[in-house]
Amino acid sequence: MGAFEGKSVVITGAASGIGQAIALAFAHEAATLFLADLSDTSETLDLLADSDCEHHAFHCDVADVASVDLLFDNVEKTGASPDVVINSAGILIESPVLEMTEEDFDRQIAVNLKGSFLIAKAALSCMSAKGTGRLILIASELGYLGRADFSAYCASKAAVIGLTRSLAREFAPDILVNAIAPGPIDTPMLGADSMSPEWAAKEANNPMGRIGKPEEVAGAALFLASPAASFMTGQTISPSGGAVML
Ligand code: NAD
Repeated sequence: MGAFEGKSVVITGAASGIGQAIALAFAHEAATLFLADLSDTSETLDLLADSDCEHHAFHCDVADVASVDLLFDNVEKTGASPDVVINSAGILIESPVLEMTEEDFDRQIAVNLKGSFLIAKAALSCMSAKGTGRLILIASELGYLGRADFSAYCASKAAVIGLTRSLAREFAPDILVNAIAPGPIDTPMLGADSMSPEWAAKEANNPMGRIGKPEEVAGAALFLASPAASFMTGQTISPSGGAVML
């Protein structure tokens, strides 16, 4: 019997990277999964083929309110009510600020910040109706640290940390809201395969001296969703090899 048997877990950004690893980790714990992504989730579904956990996949653009509402309607149509919602959908557009277009700035805020708000609002509405739940937002260590040429991304992730704190205060004590601020993690977003050695060394410049694995973020998500985190809300924990210490 898995630790999340009988629990309904909604994961956005589940087609790839950290969201995919979170899906596999919760599948291992026998959760019922609701996978959502703008992209095709078939790779994640293939990886889940040998798992006997119940899983459903939905197309969803987290930046679009109608799409987010439809996602949660579709979850409820299966007879489920979300116990845990994890928003891992996100985008990164690298650009020096003097060259960044308004469109690129707006898109990063729309997906990373407004997407977090829309998923949070829909999730908290469902959870309020049953009086319990866990919401986990994926921020980034860069929300604390900032980085040249990543200004819109860093601003969006710093805002996700503020959103987490506010929602935690608004929904305590019944619904716990926390965030994860990963350091560099080996996913398609980071693009470690095509990195120069200099850039790879810069990414690994943390006390542990390496880039993290998606499963190391999934571990933090499992913890925040578990009874072990029952006295934690408004926190942002950082699997970043020690790059962020608060
Ligand atoms: P990824 O690119 O592998 O996965 C992101 C997923 O989000 C993709 O499947 C993509 O299709 C989906 N997505 C993008 N826009 C969407 C939208 N509008 N609606 C729904 N889905 C959408 O990247 P990842 O590394 O797994 O990133 C996951 C989260 O972790 C992101 O929020 C990212 O900012 C954050 N993060 C990543 C790192 C890292 O180094 N990889 C570090 C810190 C934080």
